[in-house]
Amino acid sequence: MISHDGIINVAEFCPSPNFDERPNNVAIDLIVIHAISLPAGRYNTQLIKDLFLNCLDPGKDEFLGSIKDLKVSSHFLITRKGALIQFVSTNKRAWHAGISNYKGREHCNDFSIGIELEGCDDEEFEQHQYHSLSKLINFLSMDLKINKKNIVGHADIAPGRKTDPGPFFDWTLLQSML
Ligand SMILES: [Zn+2]
Repeated sequence: MISHDGIINVAEFCPSPNFDERPNNVAIDLIVIHAISLPAGRYNTQLIKDLFLNCLDPGKDEFLGSIKDLKVSSHFLITRKGALIQFVSTNKRAWHAGISNYKGREHCNDFSIGIELEGCDDEEFEQHQYHSLSKLINFLSMDLKINKKNIVGHADIAPGRKTDPGPFFDWTLLQSML
């Protein structure tokens, strides 16, 4: 269940400072699925949390160094083990989509919920992740009245710029679980 302040009761809540207000009178009607791995191609949930909380220590890693000052977030993250973490209230605008276009509408952050899966472009996702993701989407569609047909990947709304969640994300499996 999602409370009136936009927090889901089955997630760990790690409030990110990277959000702002959604525009007035814009309904939330899109779910954007992403994949993220830090360092790239490896899995370390803590580093993703650190990135969204603006406290990423890059150490000697060049890629981490290149992203450490980004101000980004998503509403949710699903770890490799299927754990659900929330960073931003669903009422607020998280900063996950960037330059984007959905059916002619720009600025997808305004009207979407962003869900990151811990993963990368060249590896399958875990069953635990599909299980948590489908549960989360069912909550979102029930409480926020988001149509379950309005689910896209980041690559779909930012083609040429983004590739996530990548070719291994199983859209058919997800649909079968909704
Ligand atoms: Zn993405």
